[in-house]
Amino acid sequence: MLLPLWAAAATVEVRVPGSGSVDPAPAVLLLEDESGAFTLPEVLAADRAGGFERESELTEGLSMGYSRSAFWLRLVLRNPGPQSVQQLLEVSNARISHVSLYAPDAASNYKALVTGASAPFTSRPYPHRHFVFPISVSPQSEQVVYLRVQNSTTLLVPMLLWEPHDFEIASRSEYLVQGWYFGMVCAMVLFNLMLWLAIRDRIYIYYVVFVLAMGVTVASKTGLGAQYLGPSSWVWGNFAYFVTISCTLAAFYPFIRRMLDTPRTMPRLDAAMQATTGLHLAAPVAYWLALPAVAPYATAFFGLTILFYCGVAVWGTLQRMRAAYFLLGAFCMLVAGTLLVVLRAYGLAPSNVFTVDGLQLGSVFEMLVLALALADRFNEMRREKMRAQNQLVVIQDQLVDTLQASEKELADRVEKRTHELQAANARLEALSTVDGLTGIANRRHFDQVLHKEWTRLERTGQPLALVMLDVDWFKRYNDHFGHQAGDECLRAVAQAISSVSRASDLVARYGGEEFVVIAPGNDGPQAEQLAQRACDAVRELAMPHPLADAGLITLSCGVAFTVPGPDSSPENLLGNADAALYEAKAQGRNRVVLAQPLD
Ligand code: GH3
Ligand code: MG
Ligand code: MG
Repeated sequence: MLLPLWAAAATVEVRVPGSGSVDPAPAVLLLEDESGAFTLPEVLAADRAGGFERESELTEGLSMGYSRSAFWLRLVLRNPGPQSVQQLLEVSNARISHVSLYAPDAASNYKALVTGASAPFTSRPYPHRHFVFPISVSPQSEQVVYLRVQNSTTLLVPMLLWEPHDFEIASRSEYLVQGWYFGMVCAMVLFNLMLWLAIRDRIYIYYVVFVLAMGVTVASKTGLGAQYLGPSSWVWGNFAYFVTISCTLAAFYPFIRRMLDTPRTMPRLDAAMQATTGLHLAAPVAYWLALPAVAPYATAFFGLTILFYCGVAVWGTLQRMRAAYFLLGAFCMLVAGTLLVVLRAYGLAPSNVFTVDGLQLGSVFEMLVLALALADRFNEMRREKMRAQNQLVVIQDQLVDTLQASEKELADRVEKRTHELQAANARLEALSTVDGLTGIANRRHFDQVLHKEWTRLERTGQPLALVMLDVDWFKRYNDHFGHQAGDECLRAVAQAISSVSRASDLVARYGGEEFVVIAPGNDGPQAEQLAQRACDAVRELAMPHPLADAGLITLSCGVAFTVPGPDSSPENLLGNADAALYEAKAQGRNRVVLAQPLD
């Protein structure tokens, strides 16, 4: 009873147009070739001897795990129809190093179609990102085909059998989805490059490098790199695939570092991230030397790195760092996309655009959320700049206020100083013209005024009179009453002389106990009267002087006058007055003598 069932399960009916694809895996029998050296005749012999076995645990696609062996897959295609049909067997894993199909031709001789990720793209019998083999099945027959697969890393052989027309229609939509993804990558790269040129924040370059690395990784994974970009198959083999994943993960570090300022905000995690990045950068050497040996560890390391970065994002979120929310969101997108792919692989989710291309979708949303994070960062920086600017304006205002206040204070102080200086100058000026003891003009001032009056009156032709007054017996007064009393006496005498002179006259102390009066416009008799008035005023002071003839302080006066002209001089006039004073002393003091007018 079981045998027919077995036979029925072990064949796959060819597809008719419009029936879509079918997964032939349940009908596949397996032969492991550990040496990888089996030839077709050996395999055919093994098949006849019942060497092929059913794979017990079949998921969608055959998973052989990490194995260096070559695997031979036996598939029986049944064509119940009256015509020969063309079929396409798609091996939808772009990264199997060696994939060969052995199918019988019209003469029932097995022909090999040898290709794989390590072979040039031109070796493919059908130009497609996956490995697609055309098989023609004769009418009303069963055809046995063998597929030989061998890989340097994990071996997963998902297969689909198609009717060619259906395959082309399905491929078109599928390529559209892929093109959409890479269009997105290109837009993100170009846009952020321009942002970098405009803003000059290095984080945009880090983002561009990260997105580029991720794009290249996806191109490598999907087989599109080999189809459209690859100069040679080598570039898109498993080695390159592992290198691009490591580069993507390494490129993420500078981005997250700048985004979260990790050296400052989480120094220990930063050091760990740095070490992880160093390992990723060094990993290509290991891939180069022994990819099959290190591939399982590398895959685990990739997973751990992503988990670690997720942890960093969670930590940042717990620290309430704004950018970390975006990072976490971005990771959730990527993890959700990957999860959908895994769920589909285990048959827990249906095959659709979300589950088949979940990685690309997750990656696109990750790119978008990270771009949003960049925009938010830009905004945040702008706000910070605004705050700083506002603060600056406040400080500037304060500075201006302070400056104005101190300027005013300075101006006030300068004004005060100026006043003080002016007062001091006035005092100095006064000091320079005033006699300290008596308060009347001093000798210096007298000389200046005499010369000024001389030239003025020389112009107007008016007379100029000079009176010299000397206190009589003043030495004796000093000796008798003391110097202080003498000073008192001199002050009183100066006062008395001033009181009888006019405003236009100048009373000055000539020296010691001698005084002088300049009387402009006075002729001899007028000046004589002035001198007489002075003598009277002093006598009226009635200052007792026991050692003087009169018993009082008295004055002797010499009066001289002239009309200033080129023939005489102030010195002559002064000499004349002095001579008259001498005459007054000689005549017995306490009198006025008028000098003869100058010639
Ligand atoms: P005569 O009548 O001939 O002028 O005799 P005299 O004593 O007044 O003249 P003399 O020239 O011999 O003396 C002047 C005195 O005036 C000498 C000096 O002690 C005194 N004397 C000069 N200047 C001052 C002064 O500023 N204060 C005082 N207290 N005495 C002065
Ligand atoms: Mg004298
Ligand atoms: Mg005297």
